[in-house]
Amino acid sequence: MLLRPLDIDPSHCLIDGRWRGPASGQTLPLINPSDGSILCEIARGDASDIDRAVGAARAAFEGPWGKATAVERGRILQRIGGLVVENIDELAQLEALDVGKPLTQARADVVALARYMEFYAGSVDKLHGQTIPYLEGYTVYTLREAHGVTGHIIPWNYPMQIIGRSVGAALATGNAAVLKPAEEACLTALAFGELARRAGLPDGALNVVPGLGAEAGAALTAHRDVDHISFTGSVSTGRLIQRTAAEHIIPVTLELGGKSPQLVFDDADIDAALPFLVNAGIQNAGQTCSASSRILVQRGVYDQVVARMAERYSALRAGPALSDLSVGPLVSARQKEIVEGFIAKGADLNLVARGQVVTDAPAGGAYVAPALFADVPADHTLAQDEIFGPVQVIIPFEDEAEALAIANGTAYGLVASVWTQNGARQMRLARALRSGQVFLNNYGAGGGVELPFGGSGLSGHGREKGFEALYGFTTLKTVAAYHG
Ligand code: ADP
Repeated sequence: MLLRPLDIDPSHCLIDGRWRGPASGQTLPLINPSDGSILCEIARGDASDIDRAVGAARAAFEGPWGKATAVERGRILQRIGGLVVENIDELAQLEALDVGKPLTQARADVVALARYMEFYAGSVDKLHGQTIPYLEGYTVYTLREAHGVTGHIIPWNYPMQIIGRSVGAALATGNAAVLKPAEEACLTALAFGELARRAGLPDGALNVVPGLGAEAGAALTAHRDVDHISFTGSVSTGRLIQRTAAEHIIPVTLELGGKSPQLVFDDADIDAALPFLVNAGIQNAGQTCSASSRILVQRGVYDQVVARMAERYSALRAGPALSDLSVGPLVSARQKEIVEGFIAKGADLNLVARGQVVTDAPAGGAYVAPALFADVPADHTLAQDEIFGPVQVIIPFEDEAEALAIANGTAYGLVASVWTQNGARQMRLARALRSGQVFLNNYGAGGGVELPFGGSGLSGHGREKGFEALYGFTTLKTVAAYHG
């Protein structure tokens, strides 16, 4: 299979500006989660491919790419964004097939990828150092400099968006990147590599090596010539990566998911809140780091919110990605098993509604009917652990203090939202919530390419997205000149 219209063979890696087979000659099957069929074979990159990719990145960093000015880098990113938009239909189709994501959601991801390119293209020549008042006879200033070679290990749930925020910011600041996409979904990463090449990105500035986490991913993290690792994925893999990076003392950015709450108070505009309460839980079949999996509702509107969410859940339909229903399949049979395991653990809970899998959904697809639980104790596993599937829990609360205690009462801290008309309460909770982002009377703010994103606790550390990412992908040098 060739990826149209780019004519890339997905069993190849992009290394030093050329497509080549993996050193081992081995491939891995890529599964279509909508029906369980094999979409194509992808390269099983390993340590020797990673070594070549890191070598190519180092040469690019020390060569023309490392010497390019911010304006020149920005222009190339702008061109990549343009090519992404030109290929929106093909990219959306690839992402839908590969991830199992409904087509409309995949299209939104293409738009976000293009926006990241535009945003970083336009912002990088505004990244300034400072001058620092100092002793008599000194002039002191700071320089923002690229780390060098950055490794990007990304998951399967939002390949394009995560490439945009992570690789986009790294390239903008002059790093040379090695991208290891997930073995479950890597087609748009390959397509992106080709588009970047066609946009004039110098050879080696972006290398794409698909493969298994324990092989290509582990080799990238352990490589002694990598200067920074950006990882999005599970807590257990994040922990391994941080440990390995510690061996050679390189900075890591970890984005590891969450258990993000929405707090609905008695005075909230429930009509406005409802679509966000449900959509933030079932978007991408709940396989979203910032999914809102906990809905905390004050007693006065509790019954109303439960009933109205249940009504929406009953209308949800899960089916093949290309049917473009509200919910697609999960990414894999393994993920389906994990999510069904969680639903089974809720057997003693109040399951108030379930959506349906459409009757003509292929038997081999990884479908799970969305499930909504109410009256869930805040310490129940369904209210504490990240499920990564279309499952939400509703938890009642009496007052603001209890809402805050429940909201902050998990090991995660990625995103939270507060629905209330009370301005003072909005301000108090925005400060008190342990969360990298807080939304007031909305959730997610439309994707937020411009909005710094990242968490605390088990959600990880470091910030991507927005201007803030430019700081994360650079290091600061202080120059102190004595001139008398
Ligand atoms: P999931 O369990 O949801 O697939 P992971 O955190 O395992 O999430 O995967 C996210 C990314 O991390 C993927 O690209 C995967 O290949 C990679 N990965 C998995 N294990 C390792 C590892 N030991 N070292 C580096 N990368 C890994």
